Amino acid sequence: MSLSLYEREKPIPPEEYVRVDYESLKKWVKSVYVKLGLLEDHAEIVADVLTMADLMGISSHGVQRVGRYVTGIKLGTVNPRPKVRIVKDFGATALIDGDNGLGHPTALYAMNEAISKAEKYGVSLILVKNSHHFGIAGYYSLKAAEKGFIGMTVTNSESLVAYTHTAERYLGTNPIAVAIPRKNPPPILFDAATSVVPVGKIELYSKIGKEVPPGWAIDLEGNILSGNAKEILKAIRERKAALLPLGGLGEELGGHKGSGLSMIVDVISGVLSGAAWGWHVRHTISDRPANVGHAIAAVNIDAFMNKDEFFDRLEKFISEIKSLKKHPKAERIWIPGEKAWLTMQTRLKIGIPIHKAVLNELKKISNEASVPFTVKIIKEKAY
Ligand code: NDP
Repeated sequence: MSLSLYEREKPIPPEEYVRVDYESLKKWVKSVYVKLGLLEDHAEIVADVLTMADLMGISSHGVQRVGRYVTGIKLGTVNPRPKVRIVKDFGATALIDGDNGLGHPTALYAMNEAISKAEKYGVSLILVKNSHHFGIAGYYSLKAAEKGFIGMTVTNSESLVAYTHTAERYLGTNPIAVAIPRKNPPPILFDAATSVVPVGKIELYSKIGKEVPPGWAIDLEGNILSGNAKEILKAIRERKAALLPLGGLGEELGGHKGSGLSMIVDVISGVLSGAAWGWHVRHTISDRPANVGHAIAAVNIDAFMNKDEFFDRLEKFISEIKSLKKHPKAERIWIPGEKAWLTMQTRLKIGIPIHKAVLNELKKISNEASVPFTVKIIKEKAY
């Protein structure tokens, strides 16, 4: 397999996609949020997180989500000018109140706080309440890895997942993201929802006309759903269906482990922070603020071991994994974060593929916000 122009999500069929220039996409996203009243530096961060997701090949959480935040701001559910502040500061820990602003600037602020506390104390844990959705959890963990720290980020989210042996939405898709620096990039980045898939994937499938495979969602009778993504998304939104936890239905393939991980994320980021939990967490587009909670931590490697020694040991560990007997059907053994990193390098060179349905949605947003659509299309067909 050639890795020179690798993409973890391929724009197939190519005629349904265009390639756009990353910088112009980011600039345009920022301009929309500035127009809607977001603080300039907050708009910059939101735009960076969204377009970074597309660069990394996580289009479920890329610019297809611009509209969700736009609606939240217009409805007044999202505070465009939050006063993010530390409400409790206790040694290596702190509690932050996000003042109902978008989660992205608040989570970044929390990670910066976590890094400076870990520098001083060795480890840190920052909890956040009164926040909103923050996009890809890995973005914040990577900020720690860039500075040589191990970064951990978890968040709760709107309830979408059926806890094991139940058949209705209760838990969020509550992702866990850990980034670990290496001697040379890419850092390890494990960033995953605690559900089989995040709902963003079904949202995207419903926009681009792809079918949902069996195993992602169930209805209220506990039947596994598959097929038309639009219908399944509608059923989820109407609380007539729910996503399944990581490991799927029941216990046979470990569904209880996904439920358990999700529950732990919710207890730390929701129950302990003072934020909402379970089905009390709202969507960005709701009649009241979401009160999402995040938990963000950093680990100072030097507090445990000389960094060079750690890097050497880590490389040995990774090379052992890479040299394991490969499954006959596998093309390659991957370390988490590698595919995202290669995709990012590729897309910085040749642009980001955007499905035409998503592009039309962005143009509509531009029109409604009276912001010029300045996204540069590099190629009319993705390949
Ligand atoms: P994926 O299933 O796409 O990936 C999960 C992780 O597995 C990634 O770190 C990925 O690395 C790694 N990986 C993939 N293939 C392999 C392999 N063969 N070997 C080893 N590691 C591998 O993630 P999800 O779809 O679950 O989540 C997507 C995003 O959604 C995440 O960024 C998450 O934070 C976000 N999310 C946000 C929520 C919120 O409320 N804010 C809620 C739920 C999810 P790589 O990227 O390099 O492929």
